[in-house]
Amino acid sequence: MMLFSELAEYYDRLESVSSRLKMIDITTELLKSADEDEIANIIYMTQGVLAPPFEGVEFGVAEKIVEDAIVVATGYSKQDVEKDYKKQGDLGLTAQSLRSTSKLKRMNTKNNSVNEVHGVMLGIARTSGPGSKDAKIKMLANLMAAGTPLEAKYMARYPLGQLRLGLGDSTILEALSKASTGERNFKAELERAYNLCSDLGLLGERLFKDGTKSIEGFRVALFKPIRPALAERLPTAEEIIERMHGECAVEQKYDGFRCQVHKDGNKIKLYSRRLEETTEMFPDMIKAVKDEVKADRIIFEGEALAFNEATNEFFPFQETIQRKRKHGIEEKVEEMPLHLFAFDLMYLDGEDYISRPYKDRRNALEGVLRGSKLIVPSTQIITSSPKELEKFFIDSIGDGLEGIVAKDLSAPYVAGARKFSWIKMKRSYRGELSDTLDLVIVGYFLGRGSRAEFQFGGLLCAVYNGAKDVFETISKIGTGFTEEQMKEFKRMLDGIKVKSKPPRVDAVMEPDFWVYPKYVVTVKADEITKSPTHTCGKERMPDGIEVGYALRFPRIVGEGTVRQDKSAEEATTTKEVIEMFRQQKKVGVGD
Ligand code: AMP
Repeated sequence: MMLFSELAEYYDRLESVSSRLKMIDITTELLKSADEDEIANIIYMTQGVLAPPFEGVEFGVAEKIVEDAIVVATGYSKQDVEKDYKKQGDLGLTAQSLRSTSKLKRMNTKNNSVNEVHGVMLGIARTSGPGSKDAKIKMLANLMAAGTPLEAKYMARYPLGQLRLGLGDSTILEALSKASTGERNFKAELERAYNLCSDLGLLGERLFKDGTKSIEGFRVALFKPIRPALAERLPTAEEIIERMHGECAVEQKYDGFRCQVHKDGNKIKLYSRRLEETTEMFPDMIKAVKDEVKADRIIFEGEALAFNEATNEFFPFQETIQRKRKHGIEEKVEEMPLHLFAFDLMYLDGEDYISRPYKDRRNALEGVLRGSKLIVPSTQIITSSPKELEKFFIDSIGDGLEGIVAKDLSAPYVAGARKFSWIKMKRSYRGELSDTLDLVIVGYFLGRGSRAEFQFGGLLCAVYNGAKDVFETISKIGTGFTEEQMKEFKRMLDGIKVKSKPPRVDAVMEPDFWVYPKYVVTVKADEITKSPTHTCGKERMPDGIEVGYALRFPRIVGEGTVRQDKSAEEATTTKEVIEMFRQQKKVGVGD
């Protein structure tokens, strides 16, 4: 049985190292010392959550609650707590230092186990309604008062979602592999299983209880969202047909939001591209699934678009996205009902379809949707002619769509990966890269001149290098912000500031402040160029200088700030940037 104080020691060690390899070693050691009935909780806690993220269990704890809990647990006044927080910028550090100088004795010097702390935290999350604020403060304060100052640090950060350990899924998977087999190479098998269930805690538990065989035999399951397959990109119809070795399916590409549907009889759940449960947001879709899908048990996915009843047209993305909301759902259902263009099938009435060829999946999907109205199969052609593909593409654009996605007829569904079994081609604008990039913010600059008053002068942004599991910088974005955006960025980024460069960030350029890689922004640029100031895809030149890729004229897309539907690891990858660079030369963008 692991004590929370031991877990806190591991976290403290994790925070103090600056290399990814050391992080893996410490995490491996941590996992190895866990029992089988606590491994799942330890993994969730280390991820900074209470349960697999798709279950959406939220703490419902604001900073004020943590501040009040620190007051109760330390005997200091509210003003003392606020003053210290202002100084240190991190309630975890405030909890730690005030606990260590507190005149209050450790109240009930009970050494809480990891499972006990998890249980109380779950209790805090489940407490709602009138009086819940005080109840939450009391529960949290009791935990803090019973523990060491180091425990208090993480007990303050955990419910705020600010553990700041910097461990990605990939690090945890590698550590799980080493903890269970002593080797790194079981990671691939674990990754396969993870792509099918999106639940690291479950994998850890299976592994510790039933051994590696249970991972090798892992299959998709209802209500465990599958990590979505992603598309590669190519610029021309010829290249697509060549890459597909002739005949392939070509589907219209809809610009709405991705939706994964799980149905077991009358129980139906929906998951977003980021695998968050969105069932409550779309009652009309649930009804349509009930009414139209001819299957008892099924997992399938598609792109949801809002339909404008008045004009008999689909709404564009910016408006469709308004359907993703937590309040005022009923009115929106009337105003802009959803249609779902189904494009893949993963499971049907006891049969796993993931590993079956696209052709079979599509046939079965068309079978269960026969005669349906709101949930229809995506429009598709099958062709081996570049000319025909090009025409379908032009027609799709003419219909106001984004482009097409070509699909390999014999490929399985490749969960959680970007492979050439799906290839997208989008319309492009002259003088601009045809595709936007989703970049992770890793730091920010202070404002100078007229911007000084906002204390915000721009962002340092990175892409994700999946092979190395690091974030490599590609751009400093310093222009094109509205005053509102500057204020908002400053506010959000101040909440995740870190003292030094996070271990998984690779950078040459030094921002005024580093931040924990968390927020993703969508960026447009004119061109990808080579530059020694960025580390994305860096290569050593014969003269010894390292040169990476950078963006020319980068600017943030849209009026908002960050993308809520993507995590840091879901940002554009280094590999994609290299491919975009290659393609831009080919089509001569900017000429
Ligand atoms: P992108 O976001 O540009 O990488 O394009 C991939 C996204 O296109 C997927 O995640 C889906 O949400 C969306 N999409 C729209 N239509 C289709 C389709 N027919 N097949 C696959 N994905 C589609």
